[in-house]
Amino acid sequence: MAEYNLTPVSVPVVKTKYRTIQTAIPVPESLPYFEKLRRSEPRSMSGQPPVVWDHALGAIVSDKWGNRWIDWSSGVLVTNVGHGHPRIVKALQEAISRPLLATYVFPHEGRAELTDLLRQLAPKPDETTVFLLSTGSEATENCIKLAKTYAMEKHGPAKSVFVSFNNAFHGRTMGAQLAGGMPKAKKWLGTGYPDFVQVPFPDGYKNPDVSFDLFLRTLAERNLPPERIAGVMSESYQGVGPDFFPVDYARKLEAYCREHDIVLIMDEVQSGFGRTGKMFCFEHYGITPDLIACGKGISSSLPLSAVIGRSDIMGWYPPGSMTSTHSASPLAVTAAIANLHVLADEKLVERAARLGEWFMPELHRIQRKYPDVLGCCTGRGLVAGIQVVQPGTRSPNPDLATRINVACMQKGLLMFAPVGVGGECVKISPPLSIEEDALRESLAVFEEAVDEVCGAR
Ligand code: PMP
Repeated sequence: MAEYNLTPVSVPVVKTKYRTIQTAIPVPESLPYFEKLRRSEPRSMSGQPPVVWDHALGAIVSDKWGNRWIDWSSGVLVTNVGHGHPRIVKALQEAISRPLLATYVFPHEGRAELTDLLRQLAPKPDETTVFLLSTGSEATENCIKLAKTYAMEKHGPAKSVFVSFNNAFHGRTMGAQLAGGMPKAKKWLGTGYPDFVQVPFPDGYKNPDVSFDLFLRTLAERNLPPERIAGVMSESYQGVGPDFFPVDYARKLEAYCREHDIVLIMDEVQSGFGRTGKMFCFEHYGITPDLIACGKGISSSLPLSAVIGRSDIMGWYPPGSMTSTHSASPLAVTAAIANLHVLADEKLVERAARLGEWFMPELHRIQRKYPDVLGCCTGRGLVAGIQVVQPGTRSPNPDLATRINVACMQKGLLMFAPVGVGGECVKISPPLSIEEDALRESLAVFEEAVDEVCGAR
């Protein structure tokens, strides 16, 4: 994966409405922070471009040495309404000055308000309840637990198998990784978990067979009839792409789950809250999941996640037995309520769809300039990815992807480190609130960086 060089490099000065680069990059004065982090943290935490964030507002991230970047990361698809939205900041300031900072599972007003707001976003609000947690991994873990509990208790212990997809990412905790689909990331688990099974994802690029038959065949080959399956979970788009389901596949999957009382779970941790131009990405497929895992963009800021789901499944555990210490932590809840109001009032879901209409074709145009190394471009709304490959192949090229990322950083455009199965995907995810001229400016910067890196080979 990405390794960033910490030797400062002199780069051309940039001064525009949205970007300033006026020092060497990384900033020489920032190096002591990297040294401190190197001593006090595991190296797993060092994988992002070497910019020391000082403050972030809207679509702009600033360091304390006067440099400013247009942000194409949104953290990691967190800040859908923009960084430090004034309404979120104001709501937090009020909550802090009250103060109400921790409540455990004792009720507070915000929890009642937020669960009600989230329930209203579900396809069937009257049959839906909401469980608040802190991280995306907790939400997906909880979905796994609920699906297996429901299926095994209702239909007997044999209905215990949990199906997910190759290349899936559901978090880094144990259950989330058991359901994850990246063999390298889950090697530490060893073997011996026959209840967790992965099937190919119909992305059409890494796996050209997008038929639902492949799903059925894969399970049949493993002797897993639907009577054994408790739940199926997928990201609504796979983050490594982004890769979307063909509509026909998603609908067949839904019908299969309905027919056999299998809990259908959509992981919307990354794709939810407007990112793809719909509130939830599964709306593009016209399906109704039983459980929805949420996180990231739910608050655009503080750590909060949720499971939104069918009341009969959600209600399986009696009072006191499905909780978490920081469930509905008041500040995170305050931020999420303000965030949901901003998303609605500023019509940011519609905005993502509208901006994507011209932004996506532009990204495709840039990808097509270098088809031998930019293998494909996918996206919807304001999330996109370009797969960087070894010339003329589909093999990952993480080095070239990282060089594009570094060139952008040096010009005042910030992205998180390339993702993908082998670190080959340049992921593009600006805040949904990004000013249109900032989006156009950043696109021009991206093209310049791609031309320099890909054109100079
Ligand atoms: N599911 C998906 C689809 C994600 O993208 C992520 C985070 N990248 C997670 C789950 C895990 O979320 P967290 O890092 O908050 O645990």
